[in-house]
Amino acid sequence: MILILRPNTDHNSADYRKLMDYLTNLPNIQSRIHQEVGTQQHLTEVYLIGDTKALSIEDMQTLPTVERVVRISEEYRVLGRHKSGDNRPTSFEYNGVHFGQNNLNIFAGLCAVDNPQHVELMLKALQENGQTCTRMGAYKPRTNPYSFQGHGKNCLPYVFELAGKYGMRVIAMEVTHESHVEEIRQALHITGNPTGVLLQIGTRNTQNFELLKIVGRQHEFPVLLKRGFGITLEESLNAAEYLASEGNRKVIFGLRGMKTNMGDPHRNFVDFAHVPVIHRLTRMPVCIDPSHSVGSREQSPDGILDIMSVTAQGIIAGANMVLIDFHPAPSKALVDGPQAMLLKELPHFLEDVAIARKAYEARTALAKRYQTK
Ligand code: PEP
Ligand code: MN
Repeated sequence: MILILRPNTDHNSADYRKLMDYLTNLPNIQSRIHQEVGTQQHLTEVYLIGDTKALSIEDMQTLPTVERVVRISEEYRVLGRHKSGDNRPTSFEYNGVHFGQNNLNIFAGLCAVDNPQHVELMLKALQENGQTCTRMGAYKPRTNPYSFQGHGKNCLPYVFELAGKYGMRVIAMEVTHESHVEEIRQALHITGNPTGVLLQIGTRNTQNFELLKIVGRQHEFPVLLKRGFGITLEESLNAAEYLASEGNRKVIFGLRGMKTNMGDPHRNFVDFAHVPVIHRLTRMPVCIDPSHSVGSREQSPDGILDIMSVTAQGIIAGANMVLIDFHPAPSKALVDGPQAMLLKELPHFLEDVAIARKAYEARTALAKRYQTK
């Protein structure tokens, strides 16, 4: 059960203390406080865990400072959408960018940072095409221990400075160890916070619970959690809940294809049909990663790259973020060159994305029209 308190409830007020005293005395019930500090107001939610079946919604609603009561199912307590009166937000803001189930952000960029020239060419192209978000991999988890592992913290200062120079608000960047979060924080600080970072947990770490707890405990950076490539959707959604249960609910859920031979001829079996499922089960914005799903630049006879076709599929189903590899010189890329889009393809890609998004918006309007008939 969740008690949603009135906005800006003062935790030093007599009413709040009364509420806490009452909750502490409930038998077999523990409470966990979640606070969300926004620009306009701060919100407090009290999660009651334990024998809550005995509690009545009506009684709890009369307690001091309580605005609303939501009875939740066991699953995805914080991030889930619950049946009774759950109109908690499905969006958040970070560094001037809105992330929600009702909008779309594009994160095109380098799979792996290789040198400052390529970073600059990439960012310049993004700015020229009106983009304010990108992806830049510094820490690369590789299947082969002898493969390039990313430049790590050494590249962060120039990546952040250049991001600031070209007006990037948010960079998606994978972290594989807790020390990386601190390195990112320090590099941002040293460079004067020219940009923001969306911490990415990759598919190989979806169930690295200790990493999830660390990343969940910090509130500075939002998190993009990729679905595990070989586990159930439920297991991956529970992994996302780990982040939120530790306090960070600025979480985006990423689909990136599943490892199965049915994926052939794509690198992974594309799972973007699950976009609406995640919207239905949770309040998280949903990201699709067409690059790591498809894994090549194969093209169909209609002249459309498979990467672009699956991007359109995800967007037409309501995806809220696209994470996609581009590279100024894919033959020189140190990671995943064969799946990278070319900078000259960026305008084409963005126009194609806009067509798919418009189609999604037309579909939701149509659904509404038929619902009210
Ligand atoms: C990536 O986005 O660079 C990446 C390695 O993705 P995934 O974790 O989905 O393989
Ligand atoms: Mn990659």
